[in-house]
Amino acid sequence: MSDQNLAYNTEWLQQQDNQHYLHPFSDHKTLREQGARMIVRADGVYIWDSDGNKILDGMAGLWCTNIGYGQSRLAKAAFDQMNELPYYNSFFQCAHPPVVELAKTIGELAPAHMNQVFFTGSGSESNDTVLRMVRHYWTLKGQPEKFTIIGRHNGYHGSTVAGASLGGMKPMHSQGGLPIPGIHHIPQPYWFGEGGDTTPEEFGIQAARELESAILDIGADKVAAFIAEPIQGAGGVVIPPDTYWPEIKNILARYDILLIVDEVICGFGRTGEWFGSQYYGLEPDFMPIAKGMTSGYMPMGGVIVSDRVAGTFEQEGGEFFHGYTYSGHPVAAAVALENIRLIQENKLVEYVKNDIGPYLQTAWQTLSDHPLVGETRGVGLLGALELVKEKAGRVRFDSELDVGGMCRTLSVSNGLVMRAVGDTMIISPPLVISHSEVDELVSKAREALDLTMEALQAEGLY
Ligand code: PMP
Repeated sequence: MSDQNLAYNTEWLQQQDNQHYLHPFSDHKTLREQGARMIVRADGVYIWDSDGNKILDGMAGLWCTNIGYGQSRLAKAAFDQMNELPYYNSFFQCAHPPVVELAKTIGELAPAHMNQVFFTGSGSESNDTVLRMVRHYWTLKGQPEKFTIIGRHNGYHGSTVAGASLGGMKPMHSQGGLPIPGIHHIPQPYWFGEGGDTTPEEFGIQAARELESAILDIGADKVAAFIAEPIQGAGGVVIPPDTYWPEIKNILARYDILLIVDEVICGFGRTGEWFGSQYYGLEPDFMPIAKGMTSGYMPMGGVIVSDRVAGTFEQEGGEFFHGYTYSGHPVAAAVALENIRLIQENKLVEYVKNDIGPYLQTAWQTLSDHPLVGETRGVGLLGALELVKEKAGRVRFDSELDVGGMCRTLSVSNGLVMRAVGDTMIISPPLVISHSEVDELVSKAREALDLTMEALQAEGLY
């Protein structure tokens, strides 16, 4: 216990929350019954709630606080920029130093053929931008009928109308008549869940060939682009089999179709490379980014664009009727720049690749001997484990039991934020996590598994 609880009245905050605050992605019936946990402070890889509980943040907020909490240099960068130029836009032939410097810096970190950046306020806005840019590109090329974008079931690309349509989350589609027209979804490369009797290698090829079938069904002259996360994050840290991306590359090369690699989670170091595209050797035309770009200290996103696409915009001319009041916001840009400087100075990408990433993966794998664990997997500082009733045959619990939700609740009460996607438990800790903090994370994850097993046994369910 710390002295934090002295300063906050949890009950009062929860009452006000219940009366006034509509939460994102929440069931307000259960939320109002149970009350929200009030997070009041954070430092390094830890958060504290209003009752004084210290919790290891195994999810880096929402996959975003890559440099950890409490980096006062980012606060100073924001303070200085607010005093100098708190706001100006980049419409009407204007720009400002922080946004220009940020675009240049990101262009240098991105794959060599990508040098231009469009800025947004979030990952969702980035994917809305991509959808419009893709169609604008083909119109400029004289092929406006190349209109359909192919995404994947269980992919996540945001919560706006275009973002949710590009994504393949069925519960999102069921609310509000999504997806919008011109978007098609193919199966995901999720071997544990959907691979059946195939080997991961066979399944990777099979899942990639779904793209080719879809292209042939729709007609290559009508398909504009394929969108995918390098590793599906919100879908449950779905790491494609090694055969998947090379086969996708072959297929895209055969037809004239743009590649959109959604880097909102994988970007800025999470895989041990600056971008997931570099980890998998991809050459995208668009990379939507957000999250780790500012480590979540300010809301900001963007789209990194290939020279081929940006060059077409320049050669063909004509206004692209798209942009946001906060595109390239100077304070967010100054914070993003300072965040990138910190990642570089502390060699965090190298640390993930050569040191803490392998350390976490080795430790995480040890959980596979737990009776409830059907598989552990991970890349860099991403990890997942599959909860199963029986290891042999990958037998799941009845989904009604929500064993994943049970495990998450027990884990958070026991001092570790893990997230549950169905019965898949996932982690994505800040890149600054130390060896001893990884040890703590993995031993707390094991405790959460033990507590889940005890709870299931107490109810006669295991
Ligand atoms: N793309 C991916 C891959 C994401 O994980 C997310 C957010 N989890 C988004 C897009 C949407 O980003 P935002 O929540 O900032 O709109």
